[in-house]
Amino acid sequence: MSRPTKALIDLTALRHNYALACRLGPQDKTLAVIKANAYGHGAIHIARELEAAVPAFGVACIEEALALRQAGVNKPILLLEGTFTADEVAIAVEQNFWLMVENKHQVQAIVDASLLSPVTAWIKADTGMNRLGFQASEFSSAYQQLKQSPNVCDEIVLSTHLACADDLSNPFTLEQMARFSALTTGLNEPVSLANSAGLLGWQQARAGWVRPGFMLYGVSPFTVRQADADQLKPVMQLQSAVISIRNIASGEAVGYGGTWSARRPSAIATVAIGYGDGYPQQAPQNTPVLINGQRAPIVGRVSMDMTMVDITDLSGVSVGSPVELWGSNLPINEVARHTATSAYELMTRMPSRVPRIYLG
Ligand SMILES: *Cc1c(COP(=O)(O)O)cnc(C)c1O
Repeated sequence: MSRPTKALIDLTALRHNYALACRLGPQDKTLAVIKANAYGHGAIHIARELEAAVPAFGVACIEEALALRQAGVNKPILLLEGTFTADEVAIAVEQNFWLMVENKHQVQAIVDASLLSPVTAWIKADTGMNRLGFQASEFSSAYQQLKQSPNVCDEIVLSTHLACADDLSNPFTLEQMARFSALTTGLNEPVSLANSAGLLGWQQARAGWVRPGFMLYGVSPFTVRQADADQLKPVMQLQSAVISIRNIASGEAVGYGGTWSARRPSAIATVAIGYGDGYPQQAPQNTPVLINGQRAPIVGRVSMDMTMVDITDLSGVSVGSPVELWGSNLPINEVARHTATSAYELMTRMPSRVPRIYLG
């Protein structure tokens, strides 16, 4: 008695991927990024599963961090964008949240705060992504201001973010690392450069703290094969089932707008999943799904709750046949490519209507 649509979350695969991240980077400094509800996987469950192994978590904002504390997660949590308002500094100290510091307003909020004990600060240098962080001309004075403030713990992690690390042939990653070295030489502090692509693809980015997110969920950030990324195991399997089957004559159209017409007598299966479940509405005809483990193309427009599939060439499909939309047998990257989006987006926007079922 329930709709067959669910996201199976394989915790054994999650542990495997985290262990791989630890093998590539410095073991005791592999922070797990679980922002945006752990990229759609359920931040509380993912945090509980990893908590014993990780030194710290990373999230985007204090609201995400507080929700983890309320769920009983105790490890330090780095706020990757730092504070949005000055009152967050004192809360960070109380809650053992670490603050990324990326602009002068955040420095001022820390320096001006009245705190019971100092806050752990990470300072971010903008080495060419031009999104967050101190530019070369401001970095040194911001660092000195933090260093001299009694409100800041002694050790300050020096960090930056790589813009193009997922492109293994793009020399800009080396350029960013050179700029980072130039800014930070002589400072006796830990460093942090690598997200998933940096950690997997760039030996030189593996120093200090590493900050993998995406790879923990078992998906390669690269468009080409890469030995370490190929060992990742997908954590999410998006599943549903066939709920109706019909045979249609050649020339009959399927779905809203009649955007696909049969060129031969066809068998059409309706699957209980749609864009209201995070399956992309822009998925074009021919985006593959697996029914009973066999590939078949979607046809017509994806509806809110349902999607139709041409099963004319398949055998043994009946109402109730299981459907995999993505997972270990159908890479989410392949679905993302068909739909001109990224696996990051597909995972992250998975709505709460889809129950997450935790296994392993
Ligand atoms: C999101 C984020 C990460 C993780 O990036 P992935 O590509 O998911 O590994 C690391 N560092 C910062 C600052 C981030 O915002």
